Amino acid sequence: MLPATLPTISDAELTAWRGLSYASLANAVLRKFIAADDIDAATLTKLTGDAYTEAVFGSAEITPISSLEKYASGLHLQALSNGPTLAFKDMAMQLLGRLFEFELARKNATLNILGATSGDTGSAAEYAMRGRKGINVFMLSPAGRMSAFQRAQMYSLQEKNIHNIAVDGVFDDCQDIVKAVSNDLAFKHAHNIGTVNSINWGRISAQVVYYVRGYLSATSSNSQKVSFAVPSGNFGNILAGHIAREMGVPIDTLVLATNENNVLAEFFQTGVYRPRPSKETFETSSPSMDISKASNFERFVFHLFNGDAARVKALWTEVDQGRSFDVSQTPEFKGSRERFGIVSGTSTHADRLQTIKAVYETTGRLIDTHTADGVKVAASRIKPGIPMIVLETALPIKFAETVKQAVGFEPALTAQQAEMMKLPQRVVQIAPDVARVKEIIAAA
Ligand SMILES: *Cc1c(COP(=O)(O)O)cnc(C)c1O
Repeated sequence: MLPATLPTISDAELTAWRGLSYASLANAVLRKFIAADDIDAATLTKLTGDAYTEAVFGSAEITPISSLEKYASGLHLQALSNGPTLAFKDMAMQLLGRLFEFELARKNATLNILGATSGDTGSAAEYAMRGRKGINVFMLSPAGRMSAFQRAQMYSLQEKNIHNIAVDGVFDDCQDIVKAVSNDLAFKHAHNIGTVNSINWGRISAQVVYYVRGYLSATSSNSQKVSFAVPSGNFGNILAGHIAREMGVPIDTLVLATNENNVLAEFFQTGVYRPRPSKETFETSSPSMDISKASNFERFVFHLFNGDAARVKALWTEVDQGRSFDVSQTPEFKGSRERFGIVSGTSTHADRLQTIKAVYETTGRLIDTHTADGVKVAASRIKPGIPMIVLETALPIKFAETVKQAVGFEPALTAQQAEMMKLPQRVVQIAPDVARVKEIIAAA
């Protein structure tokens, strides 16, 4: 599904798209990635139309933009976190759930999705796949390590095709089990197992849509540019921004914000990519960005070296053996800031607290810890006349404890969320045991 060359977006298309609803825009953008003989026009229109509705995303705009001018001149916030699980992963997952169901029905096939989550990805996948025909989800999570809100969100789902498995251990133990099950090829084939990773390209094209929408919302003519600031961990979100820019969306700068786990910020500043072992990965108050190795970063490096697959393969041979690589002296890296417009910065726990408080006091808006990392790094990168759009990647209620530390109170639960917290929870708790997970899959 990875296109050899990227499709382009013309000036005339951008103009024509200004008046479109989010669903119609998604349809137009995805059409560029999906061949008509894969999914016909009527089907793609229906799938995008069903995914991007006010009922699913809370407003007709789907990703509304608001001003944070009172905090910093030129600063805006684009909300990507008003979907069912209150984090930006819903933006792609809600469409993917529908695409999967369509594909499986057409091939008369079934799929068992196996994944590990520390919070946002797992719940987005479960809410996207709940009740869908032909699909089972088996989601491993570290027992007792997610917030009460995250646990309630996942474990309260009652659909029979959703299987929550809490593992006595940490996230890495869950991840190791997923790898072990996937490496048993006979089992994998016998049980039609797919991981959430295999859908990455679909995920990224669905994410290109909100960069186009953000651009169109913040401008009135195509001669204007905007910049985006993106809270980053696995390079999934910002990869879509990079692709939107390559396709022709007039994006000036892409600001990559990391937390204390700054492997990506370090690369863009020095040309050295130094993945960390998991014991060097800090547990932070923006936990969805706590990564030691960025799983979508290879795609960017492939562009950086102009599609030289052998060169990228050689670099990842190093990475896979736990080593770093240094491309600082290559002409490609030296020209990369100019060519790709990516700058980076790091934010700390103290920065998050300070930013959440200051944004609240100046604008009245509560932001979550990940978004705060984005705001912090964006603020020093704003250029006059170019709107800086920070992507809001989660709502503050998901990270209520830290928000309370910053402003002195917890964000209020909506009536619906309060109900959810009281629902019975469906989860089996197991030891970190590959055989037990296989049994659960085989029995479903
Ligand atoms: C997943 C996630 C991120 C990081 O996104 P990447 O695509 O991994 O860079 C940031 N914030 C939140 C709230 C997330 O759930």
